[in-house]
Amino acid sequence: MTDQYSDFVNTPFGKNVAQRLGLPAPVRLRRYEPGQILCESPVLVAGTGSYAASVRSLLTNAAVSVVGSLDELGEGRLGGIVLDLSDARRPSDLAALPELAAPAVKRLARNARVVVLGTDPTQLTDPVQVATQRALDGFTRSLAKELRAGATANLVLGPVREGGTGEGVSQQAEANVGEAVRFFLSGRSAFVDGQPVRVSDAAAQANPSVDRPLDGRVAVVTGAARGIGAAIARTLHRDGATVVCVDVPAAGEALARVANEVGGTALQLDVTAEDAGRRTLDHARTRHGGLDIVVHNAGITRDKLFVNMDESRWDSVMAVNLASILQMNETLLGPDGLGEGGRLVCLSSQSGFAGNRGQTNYSATKAAIIGLVGALAPQLAERGITINGVAPGLIETEMTGKMPFATREAARRLSSLQQGGLPVDVADTIAWLVQPASAGVNGQVIRVCGQNMIGA
Ligand code: NAD
Repeated sequence: MTDQYSDFVNTPFGKNVAQRLGLPAPVRLRRYEPGQILCESPVLVAGTGSYAASVRSLLTNAAVSVVGSLDELGEGRLGGIVLDLSDARRPSDLAALPELAAPAVKRLARNARVVVLGTDPTQLTDPVQVATQRALDGFTRSLAKELRAGATANLVLGPVREGGTGEGVSQQAEANVGEAVRFFLSGRSAFVDGQPVRVSDAAAQANPSVDRPLDGRVAVVTGAARGIGAAIARTLHRDGATVVCVDVPAAGEALARVANEVGGTALQLDVTAEDAGRRTLDHARTRHGGLDIVVHNAGITRDKLFVNMDESRWDSVMAVNLASILQMNETLLGPDGLGEGGRLVCLSSQSGFAGNRGQTNYSATKAAIIGLVGALAPQLAERGITINGVAPGLIETEMTGKMPFATREAARRLSSLQQGGLPVDVADTIAWLVQPASAGVNGQVIRVCGQNMIGA
């Protein structure tokens, strides 16, 4: 699906018309490409929290220049702002937000990034401290809604030091938070906006390289013949993984094309089949010597108002979007399934958070995924495996191409980024979650929705 309005307002004539009429002006988002510099320089790093120093060195190592104040910036614009409020414990500590950030926000460049750093409030017990840290959530979501020209704002919440009060953090916490900061500053997070992510200090391996973080990993992607699944297969391959592409036999030709393109293998399989987990695992083992990453992407919609919902629409959506995942996981997470360092990602949806008219069946399954991810994560963490979800908003695919025109247009423009996302935006978020260095992110469902207000 192409967004013709977006193409139009990105011409000089269209830009002029949009400005005169006060119409939305979506900009071309800066998306990740291998070899690309992490983000535009300079980045303002401010705040007195536990992570500011390690973020400064992370940026310097990535050849991004850092400033500590607007005075140092001079005339130019900022590629990003990292605001470390992880040590804020009283509401008065939040005064640093307008003091430090408001003047800097005016100086952001196109497609700039704001990353707010906090402490995970679910790990704090003092009500005042919890309230103070929770304030960062509302702040970041609102700021994201105010930013324009492709800029985003997201929140990274680090752990409280074990047994301590949050004063100082471990090196592992610094490294894990650093990986999340890297994602949010990069082009990989182009369509992730206004989102919080909690990061633990779980032991993580370093990525083998910056441009090929998935080198040596074997991944399975279900529903890989087209749309988001095909983009996930391409993106995991780009990042170094060997990819097994799974889809129904009826999509065999398209599936073979994607598998050939990514130098992987095709496995024709209906994910609802009783032996789907076993066949997937056996295929990955015999053809590629193991399995490290599973992306449960296959999904269907069978929309109808609930009063007209027949059994077959209900049952088929439940079977593909939910029951197949539970069933496959029994094998994939069984004794001979994913081992330490394993990564699982399930596709949820904005409808799973917000519900959607005509989608009681679909939204039930996508909300179930949110529950599943949260419940499985602590169990899997003990085995060094992570499970996360990704909840796309409006992504331009064949699935959304079937939406009524007016609904699709409204959904595109009523978002902070004023446009729909691309399959690669979902894929890049997944590619980050499955990296060896992303072990600190577990049990989360990340919305890739450009901060869509329709499915708020
Ligand atoms: P799509 O319809 O374009 O592709 C889905 C793929 O899954 C197809 O290739 C299809 O053949 C395959 N599939 C369906 N049933 C299967 C089965 N039983 N076994 C194996 N493969 C099967 O959909 P998409 O837009 O690329 O969506 C991918 C995922 O993202 C889905 O889980 C969807 O619910 C979710 N999602 C998409 C959007 C969006 O805007 N496109 C928004 C939110 C969530």
